[in-house]
Amino acid sequence: MSGTTVSPDRILIRGAHLISVDPLVGEVPSADILIEDGKIARISPCSDDAIDAEVIDAAGKIAIPGFVDTHRHTWQSLVRHIATDWTLGQYFTGIHFGLSALYRPEDTEIANLLGALEAVNAGVTTLLDWSHNLETPAHADGAIAGLRDSGIRGVFGHGGGATMWAVPNAVPHSLDVERIQREHFGGGTTNGLLTLAFAARGPQFTPGQTASDDILLARRLGLRITMHVGDGEWGRSRPVEVLHANGLTGDDITYVHCNTLSGEELMIIADTGGTASVAADVESQMGHGWPATGRLLEAGIRPSLSIDVCSSTSGDMFGAMKTTISLQRALDNSRTENADGRAGVALECADVIEFATLRGAIATGLAHEVGSISVGKAADIVLLDTHRLETTPLNNAVGAVVYSGHVGLVDTVLIDGRIVKLDGRLTRPDLETVLARATRARDELFERAQRQEATASARLGGAWKPAAVSAS
Ligand SMILES: [Zn+2]
Repeated sequence: MSGTTVSPDRILIRGAHLISVDPLVGEVPSADILIEDGKIARISPCSDDAIDAEVIDAAGKIAIPGFVDTHRHTWQSLVRHIATDWTLGQYFTGIHFGLSALYRPEDTEIANLLGALEAVNAGVTTLLDWSHNLETPAHADGAIAGLRDSGIRGVFGHGGGATMWAVPNAVPHSLDVERIQREHFGGGTTNGLLTLAFAARGPQFTPGQTASDDILLARRLGLRITMHVGDGEWGRSRPVEVLHANGLTGDDITYVHCNTLSGEELMIIADTGGTASVAADVESQMGHGWPATGRLLEAGIRPSLSIDVCSSTSGDMFGAMKTTISLQRALDNSRTENADGRAGVALECADVIEFATLRGAIATGLAHEVGSISVGKAADIVLLDTHRLETTPLNNAVGAVVYSGHVGLVDTVLIDGRIVKLDGRLTRPDLETVLARATRARDELFERAQRQEATASARLGGAWKPAAVSAS
């Protein structure tokens, strides 16, 4: 970086190829982005004018809004990749009814720090942490501490712990969420870069009255709600119809997955202003059904995207975008009326970039702050290096981001105007300590697991195949 008079409150990103995801700004081949006090103050064609700011030379780089992941069980970062060959039933046995109970609060904290830093490194600047392994208040405090320590813009989705998630049961949602709101959020919904949300079980996981009580609790606390629905065969139990019949649908709910919802249920979501989160990698791997992207779009809902679990897939949104577009195009192309591609391409690269950014901001209630590179929004910006074999010559920036994008291209990341990654490296100095803590916590977790009857067969290396439970 260079600058005339360096002012930490002013940063100029100079000469970026801008993909703004703001329809009024569009794509600008060479743009200057001025940041003042953490906010985007001006977007203009690139110029050589001297300016009193810290300058980031972005020639040869693509600027995109930071990605927004609307659903990640970040606590599973410690057990990453152990479930890559598991079905949904095996996942329930091995993790939800197996390893989850063995987490100590300090494990949750390091898992969240590790997972959030993984996200930041990959250009995810906003993460909805779908936190549903919080058996004690200390676990919740650890989860929040990990998120806060990472510097990410985090949405902490409080989802309780194993007692709540035994299926089926009628245990009410843990009232620790009230303590968390009081102690960590001053009785409101935000504190610094963190926002509090409510990760509800919904009708698939609880009988009707409990599901209703949970949602009413979230609304009493003023929290947005996120809920799994329509995942796999048991998602055919019409959960959204149940909610609607009880007067509980609304524009404060993000419906995660949606694969096996009926067409009528998708219309209910659209008519009530709900948002959606598609996790195409995990859905296609675990057997949730075809990702609902195209059916959601037909119903008038533009979905956000999510990672879901790093125990099964990678934690970057490049993969999420590519799987989403590939599977939907495969479905579209398989329709007989589209033989030989006569109907053209329905889902375009620009669409999935919008899903991974702006639609995520809308689904987390943060679109006034993030999701696009727009004047007045917070400077959550990612610069992607294009001076690479896989992106030279740069003929179509939007297509390159979707089809050749990967974590290795993420050169610079700003969150709220702070530079958290520069020249391809996270700026925090203690990464080795974080990695060592995470590995030690993983070692101790598996040592404890092997001493328990239910998880005695837990092994690293892919050999562990838990028996599958029926989720229905
Ligand atoms: Zn999930």
